[in-house]
Amino acid sequence: MSIKTNLSEIQSQLPSHVSLVAVSKTKPVEDLMEAYESGQRIFGENKIQEMADKHQQMPKDIQWHMIGNVQRNKVKYMAEFVDLIHGVDSEKLLNEINKQAEKHQRTINCLLQLKIAQEDTKFGMTAEAAHTLLESDHFKSLKNIAIVGVMGMASFTENSAQIKEEFTTLKSTFESLKKISPELEIISMGMSGDYPLAIDCGSTMVRVGSRIFGARNYAI
Ligand SMILES: *Cc1c(COP(=O)(O)O)cnc(C)c1O
Repeated sequence: MSIKTNLSEIQSQLPSHVSLVAVSKTKPVEDLMEAYESGQRIFGENKIQEMADKHQQMPKDIQWHMIGNVQRNKVKYMAEFVDLIHGVDSEKLLNEINKQAEKHQRTINCLLQLKIAQEDTKFGMTAEAAHTLLESDHFKSLKNIAIVGVMGMASFTENSAQIKEEFTTLKSTFESLKKISPELEIISMGMSGDYPLAIDCGSTMVRVGSRIFGARNYAI
């Protein structure tokens, strides 16, 4: 199966309100270019340095999404070009993104990462913490960031009833946060193994890697 075929199969399953982030972490630029040449323009990476390297080598109409956990001291390496940061889970991180965005006179779009999985290995804020943040005067004073939605990762399990419950929780948290911040519009949930279910539960953005590019080999 080629990258091009995989992409067009997935695209054919997506409703028009759902966008596809091609998760290209660990994959070589040639693979990303194959996706680019098939029309893909949104790429997701989970390491800032790797994303910055690929950004430099690739066409400039690509939208780069940071989907991994962000170390505050590395925000400066992506502040100039990143299109959306999915994994914002603290006010400290938001402060740093705001500071670096200001240096480049731009506004950086961010998603609040919410903890929906039962496992405690997953990052993310509670719904309460997200409410408190969006209602705070401090948050309102940050002029160079925009919170445009939420992101979540379901538990790593075969139990689709559990995954469905977690996605549904994210959707309802989104609805309640949207009452405070009407500009919220993105629900980033769903990966290779569960994106059809995520879409049924209200996802507007799926992050798909191995289903497009094949299995990742971390030994390389
Ligand atoms: C790697 C990754 C994905 C894509 O995973 P696949 O199972 O390969 O589709 C999606 N979201 C995040 C946050 C990731 O780190």
